[in-house]
Amino acid sequence: MDPFDSNNTERANLPRNMIENSMFEEEPDVVDLAKDSAAFPTFPALDPDEVAFEPRSSRLLVRGLGQHDMDEDEEDCESSARLLGMSFMNRSAAHRSSSSPYTRQAPPRSCSRPSGRTMIVCVLFLVIVASLTMVMYFLPGCNFTKRGCQRTNKTTPSEQVYPVSTNGELFPWAQLRLPRSIHPLSYDLTLDPDLDNMTFTGRTVISMSVLHNTKLIVLHSSHLNITKATFKPGDGEARDVTVLEYKPRQQIAVKFSEELKTGQYCVLTLDYSANLSHTYDGFYNSSYTDTDGNKRVLAATQFEPLAARKAFPCFDEPSFKATFLIRISRKPTYLTLSNMPQAKSTPLLNGLIQDEFEKTIVNMSTYLVAFIVANFTPISSHVSETQVSVYSVPDKKEQTDYALDTACKLLEFYNDFFEITYPLKKLDLVAIPDFLAGAMENWGLITFRETSLLVGKQSSNLEKQVVASVVAHELAHQWFGNLVTMRWWNDLWLNEGFATYMQYMSLQTVLPQLDIGNLFLAVRFRALDDDALNSSHAVSMDVNKPEQVEEMFDSVSYEKGASILLMLNASLPGDQQFRKGIIQYLKQFSGLNTDTNDLWNSLTQVEVSAQHPNVSEMMSSWTSQKGFPLVTVSRKGGQVTLTQEHFLLTSDNATQTSSLWNIPVTYVTDNCSLAPECRQMFNLKTKSGTLNELPESVKWLKLNYRNTGFYIVDYGDEGWAALISALSNNVSVLTQEDRASLIHNIFALSRLGRVSFHQVLNLLKYMSNETQTSPVTEALLQLNVLYQLLDQRQEHSLVARMKSYIKHQFASLMDKQTWKEEEEESVSKQELRSALLKMACSLNEEKCIKQARAQFKQYVESNGTLRIPGDLQQVVFTVAAQSNEDWETLLSMYGQATYDAEKRKMLRGLASTQDPRRIVWILKAGLRGGLIQTQELPLVIYTVCHGFAGYLFVWDFIQENWDSLIEKFPVGSFAIQTIIKSATSQFSTQAHLNQVEGFFSSLKERGSQMRSVQEALETIRLNQRWMDKNLPTLQKWL
Ligand SMILES: [Zn+2]
Repeated sequence: MDPFDSNNTERANLPRNMIENSMFEEEPDVVDLAKDSAAFPTFPALDPDEVAFEPRSSRLLVRGLGQHDMDEDEEDCESSARLLGMSFMNRSAAHRSSSSPYTRQAPPRSCSRPSGRTMIVCVLFLVIVASLTMVMYFLPGCNFTKRGCQRTNKTTPSEQVYPVSTNGELFPWAQLRLPRSIHPLSYDLTLDPDLDNMTFTGRTVISMSVLHNTKLIVLHSSHLNITKATFKPGDGEARDVTVLEYKPRQQIAVKFSEELKTGQYCVLTLDYSANLSHTYDGFYNSSYTDTDGNKRVLAATQFEPLAARKAFPCFDEPSFKATFLIRISRKPTYLTLSNMPQAKSTPLLNGLIQDEFEKTIVNMSTYLVAFIVANFTPISSHVSETQVSVYSVPDKKEQTDYALDTACKLLEFYNDFFEITYPLKKLDLVAIPDFLAGAMENWGLITFRETSLLVGKQSSNLEKQVVASVVAHELAHQWFGNLVTMRWWNDLWLNEGFATYMQYMSLQTVLPQLDIGNLFLAVRFRALDDDALNSSHAVSMDVNKPEQVEEMFDSVSYEKGASILLMLNASLPGDQQFRKGIIQYLKQFSGLNTDTNDLWNSLTQVEVSAQHPNVSEMMSSWTSQKGFPLVTVSRKGGQVTLTQEHFLLTSDNATQTSSLWNIPVTYVTDNCSLAPECRQMFNLKTKSGTLNELPESVKWLKLNYRNTGFYIVDYGDEGWAALISALSNNVSVLTQEDRASLIHNIFALSRLGRVSFHQVLNLLKYMSNETQTSPVTEALLQLNVLYQLLDQRQEHSLVARMKSYIKHQFASLMDKQTWKEEEEESVSKQELRSALLKMACSLNEEKCIKQARAQFKQYVESNGTLRIPGDLQQVVFTVAAQSNEDWETLLSMYGQATYDAEKRKMLRGLASTQDPRRIVWILKAGLRGGLIQTQELPLVIYTVCHGFAGYLFVWDFIQENWDSLIEKFPVGSFAIQTIIKSATSQFSTQAHLNQVEGFFSSLKERGSQMRSVQEALETIRLNQRWMDKNLPTLQKWL
């Protein structure tokens, strides 16, 4: 008998949540028998002895463990829930192989012939338990949640099912999140890394305060071998304690027989040893080869989101802020860096030196702790009281000037803008040779990929734009994220959306010559594209598993987050309410943790004008639901009606949501369309609304002025026709952002099936007069997506026609591009040239190919002394890589290149080869590491996929090497998201859909649940549908 079988509704609700944590699937300590009953066909559903036995032990457990974190009636709910869970756990334990390290041995009991009395007791007990469970589950306000008997959300009750520790004892905590009864105050960390053997030992002394009576301390630890643990309560004696570990959740626990009392202080000291991590997180080893050919090793950290626990035992959640005092030993030839300035250096008896850093003056989250042992060299400067330094490997010291200069300017800007001075005495920016992310905002010690921090003296502004953007982003985090931190990863966007928004906003002021606005506009278009999928998610959403934490690092948190902040800022009256609001937010919550509502409340409270809008009311519609609105315009004479609906790209036509947004719609008309004063506002909160009567003479209106709003607009046939006709007469009737947004929107609408492809081509007719970067690059990007889809479907005749269409549309602009860098050339102009020539050469345009080859030849003959302009390197290397001989030359140059931005473009060139042997080679080389660092594998895959031969190879490669891939890059991580998206986004056939679906569903806990998999499947279906629908149109119109 299965207790959940008795009620299917209940079962549908319960098991999913009771057994929700995927960890259970990895380590089957607890098996969902309801789900897996078929796997245990001969299993006696009820074991009377066991049932009689379990309640007692469960009750004992409840009495013994952690119950002081809750009040009386919560405890009752919990204990009963545990009781149920317990019986499952132990029953399944009896049927598990005992080889699992986490297996608890089932007590040796016979269950074949229970006595009559036992039977009666058992049956009675079962009835009571079952009734209690039913009552508890269905009674409002009583559920199996830690937060007590409050049914906050009917579909997500969490379970209390204790797992088994590594030593066989029951692990006393059953949740992913740590209990709140203990709060760490300070960490004293001593680390002794051995870079020769790639190991380290450590001692962590944690001072804690007891917030609620408890008999339990639970914290995080992963891959650490804890050798000794002592506990000192308040002013009592220190004594050894036993540490229990539950590896699947990376938690350790210490149990006490006596209660730790509220308000008490205590100290836990843990000694441990571990290997330096060989992936890109935790305390990991990295290496590089210097110009003399010597291999140099170093060790660095990357803790966000969940890897501080790999370097030291800690309360590894963002809201457990504390201070840190760090000591690290090193060989005399190395230096060490950490968040704070060095306080002292002490020679040790073994010939090593121990550096001690000042105790942090701020409370910080564990994911922001950092330390490095390396032989780097710095350059420094000062901004008021702060020493700003940029560190690199010694060979690249002369590439650090730009970063230092930019960081100083930006630090000054932020100090002033936020009206809160950066609180630390030093700020280091360090280029790490082997680093997966772009950069990491560790407080006072920001780490970067070399390409995100280093630029040569002759670098173009386009290359500098990359470095300036990343520096601006990471510096903004010193306030948004470091000073004020999201309470939990569900609100990651508070960190990332803000830092992304501030990065563009600050650069527009500090370095206007970088034309950052074009990039921000393109970023918003891509955010819309991603968020249009049914598989997208709300900006702020529930996060309950480690993979889900990893997955939060995506375009919704970053780019959509930034986009909605821009929309908010643009819709507030005056230009100061936004700034004043965030200053108030930062001041009010300085050193604390927040959630999304705290931000909206701060922005609402600031009153700068008589009629300020309610920010909370407006913005919660943008953060609490996925997707964005499509606003449809319909006009009858002077009357204009706007209607909103969810812009949802879904392969299932039936799906429609009732989502509504509070949209600050902006619009301009042909009477006044360019200057900011022309902009008019209308708040669309309901399904539809009517604008103020327009004069009949108005020929057209354009919504979403300069695309500052996060929505797409459909003007209807007449509206589009009016805009197209206006643009054909004079492109300058709209700003370039507005023209780019029309192009983006019409392609999106075509993908949605709202406008015909013929209509798209109608709009593009005006392009022959277009000269500005954003509209051209957006059109090229959209056309290239179609071109690639057609190419990969082997629609040869259409591909040929598409080629000549693109060449024809952009011929005059392509012809105008020069192959040399002009003096004082704007970034915008470089972006335009780069995009046009890349397209021309990829279409095999003769003149382009000839020029690119000539440039490469000159470059090789000059032995690399003659520089190819930064914005042209990519196209030159890509063309070169298509010839056998030049590919080999490029490869050898790649091996010797020291300037990383250029080196990366060489790599993209190499990966663009159409030679199958080379494709296979480069994929394997990227996975292996060495000549091509593994950190570059996502880029290699992305590039290979854009060639016809490549995208099929990549898909095979990913399937064959999946386990190696997720060993290097965590499941759900941005790297894995990129790899999946690259490999599948160009599939458009049923056969490929089946393959992708089959492969990912076979992975089970090794990645099948990832959102990026759902996105991939959805994208393939949409491609398939678009092709089916539009191939005939293309045949007809191209
Ligand atoms: Zn960030």
